[in-house]
Amino acid sequence: MRTYTGIAASPGYAVGPVFRIRRQKIVPERRQIAGTEVAAEVARFHAAVGRARAEIQVLVDRLTTELGPGEAEILSAQLLILEDELVWDATLALIDREKVNAEAAFARAVADLAARFPGLEDETFRERVNDLRDVEQRVMRGFLGEKAATLQGPGEPSIVSAVNLTPSDTAALGHRNVLGFIMDEGGNTSHVAILARSIGVPAIVGLKGRAVARHVGQVVAIDGTDGRLIVEPDTETTEQFHLMTRQQIVINEKLAGLRDLPAVTPDGHRLRMMANIELPVELDEALARGAEGIGLLRTEYLFFQHQTIPSEDDQVRMYSEMVRRMEGKPVIFRTLDVGGDKVSDYLGAKREYNPFLGWRGIRFSLANRQLFKTQIKAIFRAASHGPAKLMFPMITGVQELRQAREVVDEVQSELQQDGIEHGADLEVGIMIETPSAVLAADLLAGECDFFSIGSNDLIQYTLAMDRGNTRVSYLYQPLHPAILRSIQRTVTAGHAAGIWVGLCGEMGSETRLAEVLLGLGLDEISLHGAALPKIKQVVRWTSYTEAQQVVANLIDLPTADEANQWLAAYIADRKRQRENGGN
Ligand code: PEP
Ligand code: MG
Repeated sequence: MRTYTGIAASPGYAVGPVFRIRRQKIVPERRQIAGTEVAAEVARFHAAVGRARAEIQVLVDRLTTELGPGEAEILSAQLLILEDELVWDATLALIDREKVNAEAAFARAVADLAARFPGLEDETFRERVNDLRDVEQRVMRGFLGEKAATLQGPGEPSIVSAVNLTPSDTAALGHRNVLGFIMDEGGNTSHVAILARSIGVPAIVGLKGRAVARHVGQVVAIDGTDGRLIVEPDTETTEQFHLMTRQQIVINEKLAGLRDLPAVTPDGHRLRMMANIELPVELDEALARGAEGIGLLRTEYLFFQHQTIPSEDDQVRMYSEMVRRMEGKPVIFRTLDVGGDKVSDYLGAKREYNPFLGWRGIRFSLANRQLFKTQIKAIFRAASHGPAKLMFPMITGVQELRQAREVVDEVQSELQQDGIEHGADLEVGIMIETPSAVLAADLLAGECDFFSIGSNDLIQYTLAMDRGNTRVSYLYQPLHPAILRSIQRTVTAGHAAGIWVGLCGEMGSETRLAEVLLGLGLDEISLHGAALPKIKQVVRWTSYTEAQQVVANLIDLPTADEANQWLAAYIADRKRQRENGGN
């Protein structure tokens, strides 16, 4: 039994075998080649190895900068395998002498080498064979180039492990058989963490290298509440985990009783509680937990599920289905937020040197005007089936908002002209997730219908910390005075202009922060379905006046540490009072 600690990214407990995410295995076809083709096949082999090498080098460089050289060791070992003379000689010999196509020759050479390892009980040999298989598949993908295959999820209930999963990976993976996630890289607001919270399974990220790669097939226990990963837990620990899981179920059942009650404080202040979703499968969970609507639909995930851009009619179908299923409750459609970590080759958003400061969100949409216009049209058409709102991501100032609204106006007049059924004037809102949007909030408020604060990016950009980088994850500080003041300023600016202000970042799912968000005067919080009942419970327990007092105490504390300590002491005190029968 060994314990590792990482970043607690999604609460809960699970025990199960580790399933390491791999792309679908590519098994090459064996083909006999003519003597005249030998040189071309050797050249293909060189090119494929070259691509695999470049791919590994990028990962090594990234791990080295983000986690340090020790963490990149495993991948550096893979580079050595690519140089292995035994593999090279055997491959070239098979191509030349047996006239076998390059990919089949390489696969045979790797299999022969793997067969030389005496037994897989020994951990070192097991790792080495795992590395060999990884390298083999990388080279196979190198042969296929862009046409590489997609990810394969677990066939039985498992803890999914990966070095990192991109949002498009998680969309491709789905949720089937996923008991929880463990990941080497990542921070609190990386998309695996968001997905895990959304489907209500535990996750630990930032495990820094070895923990994930070493335990394929072994049973692990994960505690996503405290960030503990226990490898091969003993019977006592396993029982303890099962007990904690059962307790969690009992608590959830109690909270389920709140489903149809409003999120209203004892002194009558009302907060709207909505759900964040990525895919239609999450919609039922959101409704079951009492969401009053969808406060953030990340439409890019619907695109990632397809490997081609869905047509306007396809989008109308997808969006309409969601609007209909919400039975009169509003859906806020956020237009595509690709770029940053949400890269998708087929949409044309490429990996960039500084991706979060690059071509993402509204910048990408404005540059791909036709794609943007089609999406907005589809949203307007879907809005004929029920209430919908439109929201733009990554707005940095009024100019972008005006350009986006121009497209909205164009869409409306075209739909009108063509006599196509569509929703009436939709509310048009923006995400406030860049410091410039906060500072210009008073100017922006005059030109849109609502604000929704994206605290994940707002924290990233305000505190200059990459939200997916484990090394700087300690800077994810929702209680940093700069963050609290940014939210306060945004709410004040919105209310002064008569528009409503919500928050849809991960801050909204943290129980300890519920009172703070309430006291900041937000009108709406949108969060993951699974976390909704807990937050509602806090709102129903806390008077608005007291929540405002909490904010007044926190907002002038100079450091996030002091704010965390103050809040922890306050919450402990409130809990004691409640247990003693007070309010
Ligand atoms: C945010 O940035 O807080 C947000 C909700 O958007 P995303 O996590 O999709 O960037
Ligand atoms: Mg964002």
